[in-house]
Amino acid sequence: MQLKFPDIIDASMLSTYKSCARKFYLTHLEHLKAKEPNVHLHAGKSFASGIEAARRAYYEGKYTVPFFASDSKNVVGYEFITKAPGDSESAVAEGLKVLMREYGDFSCPPESAKSLERMAGALEFYYTSYPLEHDSAFPIEMPGGKRGIEFSFALPLPLKNPDTGDPILYCGRMDAITAFASGHFVTDEKTVASLGPSWARQWDLRSQFSGYCWATREHGIRCDGVLVRGISILKTKYDTQQAVSYRPDWQINRWYSNMLVVVQRLIDEYIALCRGGVLSETLFEHNLDDACISYSNCGFYDACRSEDATTWLVTNFARKKWNPLLRTETVIEE
Ligand code: SF4
Repeated sequence: MQLKFPDIIDASMLSTYKSCARKFYLTHLEHLKAKEPNVHLHAGKSFASGIEAARRAYYEGKYTVPFFASDSKNVVGYEFITKAPGDSESAVAEGLKVLMREYGDFSCPPESAKSLERMAGALEFYYTSYPLEHDSAFPIEMPGGKRGIEFSFALPLPLKNPDTGDPILYCGRMDAITAFASGHFVTDEKTVASLGPSWARQWDLRSQFSGYCWATREHGIRCDGVLVRGISILKTKYDTQQAVSYRPDWQINRWYSNMLVVVQRLIDEYIALCRGGVLSETLFEHNLDDACISYSNCGFYDACRSEDATTWLVTNFARKKWNPLLRTETVIEE
């Protein structure tokens, strides 16, 4: 397979590159993804869809209904209908409906707490903890009249794609931009296993959020920082915490300079690989340290433990291209 430099880059890709360049190479240049679906990703995506649907229903009166082909009783998609906004009970019911639809018939591993039932309970817990009608953080009205719910961006960087010469795009997708505490905050929900005393401290330097604040300001929207809401999901209980993390201009500017340095390093490494044609340990080096065991082991852990990683990868991985803007994976036909 011929390597291609990504047209679009996001915070998660750069975080992977910084933690382990070899993992970036395998994931985003070779496009290797585990054949076994990841329960954390699947459950997290379903939860985010449900939260978004409830917000759209409550603030915009938008509800989904099935869409049928004219010659069939089969559902071919979903379309929005508009009802009166401001009905929190119906809005949460809409959120649950969408969460269940997104979760589908996914088979949750028995040891995981992120079953459909527990995820639906987590959404109800979220809206009990932060009731729509009393939430002090509510989506702002955007230029053009839309609410700040699920805001996507893709902004050109002053760096060129080494394959095409086009500007590389930096993209992201925020859960919401809310008015909160006399300011505007990017708001993000995180589903986690547990919320310890240090949970709230981890966001102050987080590049994902600095990038969101940068993009918000680039769109001419005031942004004071981020409001992160953590929801812990265990088999027996739920819990929640929220953290407020500010982003002054100097911090955004430092993040931006740092991000460009990292992307340029990635470009240089990619060019060196294309010129040399051989992947050695001097290019896209393995971390072989903490990154291998963080988040209950890197997905390539067993491959990196094997002398013959290729055989292991061929057996357990498929080629799927991740689009960070659309958040979709497309199977690459060999
Ligand atoms: S197991 Fe370690 S070295 Fe291998 S790809 Fe993952 S983080 Fe990198």
